[in-house]
Amino acid sequence: MKFLNFQQLLEQRAESGLLRQRQTLTSPQQTIVSVDGKQLINFASNDYLGLANQPQAVQALTSAADRYGVGAGASHLVCGHQKPHQDLEEALASFVGREAAITFSSGYMANLAILQCLAKKGDLIIADKLNHASLIDGVRLSDADSTRFPHCDLAILEKRLKKSSQNKFVVTDSVFSMDGDIAPLTEMVAMCDKYDAILIVDDAHGFGVIGENGKGSAEHFGLNQKQLPVLMATLGKALGGFGAFVSGEKPFVDYLVQQARSYIYTTAMPASIASANLANLNHLKQNPKILAQLKSNISYFRQQCETFKSAGFPVTILPSETAIQPIIVGDNESLLAINHRILEQGFLVGAIRPPTVPANSARLRITLSASHSHRQIDQLIQSLTNAFALQQKEVNQ
Ligand SMILES: *Cc1c(COP(=O)(O)O)cnc(C)c1O
Repeated sequence: MKFLNFQQLLEQRAESGLLRQRQTLTSPQQTIVSVDGKQLINFASNDYLGLANQPQAVQALTSAADRYGVGAGASHLVCGHQKPHQDLEEALASFVGREAAITFSSGYMANLAILQCLAKKGDLIIADKLNHASLIDGVRLSDADSTRFPHCDLAILEKRLKKSSQNKFVVTDSVFSMDGDIAPLTEMVAMCDKYDAILIVDDAHGFGVIGENGKGSAEHFGLNQKQLPVLMATLGKALGGFGAFVSGEKPFVDYLVQQARSYIYTTAMPASIASANLANLNHLKQNPKILAQLKSNISYFRQQCETFKSAGFPVTILPSETAIQPIIVGDNESLLAINHRILEQGFLVGAIRPPTVPANSARLRITLSASHSHRQIDQLIQSLTNAFALQQKEVNQ
C-alpha cells in the first residue's frame, strides 16, 4: 500500500483557501497578544471573561503544583483523583444548581462520554445541524440511530420527535459556537416533555456568559435539573482554564464515573489545573463586575456595528447577543484577504472556513471579552470598515 501523498493534499487545501495556519503566541492569552514579535489586539479567543491569565488562578495553579506536583499520575478510578478535582466538581455542581458534577479533561471528551453512556442501540438521537463537532463525533461513536434537524427549527424537530417511537435524545449547543445565537431551550424542554425525550445541552459558550450570574443557559432560561437533566460545559472558554464538566442528578453522574470511556481510560487532569479552574470560578462568583463588563462590551459592539452595517458591505452580520459575533463573508478567498488586512492593522480575529462552517459561509468570528476596552472595540470596527472598503475597491477594479 502506498502512503498518501501528503504534499499534494496540502497543496490542494491551500489552493481552495482551506489551509489552516497556527499562530505561535509568545504571550499569555489576553487582550493584547504577541505573535511573531508583533502585538495584536485579540478578538479571537474564547477567554470571554479575561480569566486565562487571572493572577489568583495562576497563584492557585502554582501553589497546587507545589503541593500536588505536576502529573495526576493515573486515571480518576485508579488513583489520580485528588482533592482539587473533588472540590472543583462540588463547586461546579453547586454553581449551576445541580446535584452533582463530573469533570473531564476536555469538552470533547465530555460529549463523547454523554452520548456513549446515554444513547444505546435502538435509541434515536435528534441533533441540531450546527452542533459542535464533538457532539457530532459523540453521535458517531454511540450505537444509537441518529437524525438531524435544520438549525433551531422547532417545527422539524417536533416532526422528528412525533414520528419515532424509540427512546429519544435531543442534542443541542446552547450558544452556537460559530453563530453565537442561543437555542430556544424553553420550547425544546416543553417539546421533550411532550414527546418523552431527554434533552442534552452543551453549554460551552453559555457557561460564564449568559444568565444573570453567568451560570449559563440553565440560569438564562430558568431551567432546573429535571427540565435540563444533562448539562455539559467547558472550563477552557469563559472560565479561562482547561477541562469540562457534566452535571445533573447524582445517580446519572455516578453512572458516568462507572461507564464513561473518555473518563475512565485517560489520565486525570493535573490537580493544579483543577485548582486554577476553581480559583477562576470563585473569582467569577466574587466579581460580578467582570460579567457586567462583558455584557456591556457585547452591547457596545452591537451598537457600534450599526455604523459598519450602514456602509452596506456584502456581508451578513448575525444577530447574536452573546460574546460570539460573526460576520459572514461567504467565499474562502475573500475571507482570507480581509482577514489578512485586519491582521496587518494589528487585530487577531478568527477566520472560520468549511468544514467548521457550511460551504460558502466563511466568516470572521469576532469574540468579545470582559477585558476589551470600548476604545479597542472602536478600533476593531474602524479596521473592519477599512478592510472591507479596500476589498470592495479591489473587486470592482
Ligand atoms: C469548545 C467546545 C467543545 C469542546 O470543549 P474543549 O474543552 O475545548 O474540548 C465542546 N462543545 C462546544 C460547543 C465547544 O465550543
